Amino acid sequence: MSKREEERYNEILNYSLNNMDDNTKFCTVCGMPLVTANDYPMDADMKTVDWCKYCGDKEGMKNYSELVKGMTEYIKGEQNISEEEATVKAEEAIKGSVAYTSGRLK
Ligand SMILES: [Zn+2]
Repeated sequence: MSKREEERYNEILNYSLNNMDDNTKFCTVCGMPLVTANDYPMDADMKTVDWCKYCGDKEGMKNYSELVKGMTEYIKGEQNISEEEATVKAEEAIKGSVAYTSGRLK
């Protein structure tokens, strides 16, 4: 994720956090709140899709290794740690996600 993408991500996340209520859905992979159409993959059906635009597209979630890769990049930038450490954290996060524990991730 580039610096600009990261800034955009944080902007959207802050907006979403300020607009959450009890019915807020969360991405079943990364836990990001899904509040506006902008949080979802492009053209996704907000009624059936429960993952964010970072974790998949309107057709489905990314697979396990793609998700680990993406999250590793994000954690690395966020926490300023090595690729190896970030990978461990990314794997832990994804293995703890609803999507993974319910067997929906391939
Ligand atoms: Zn997500």
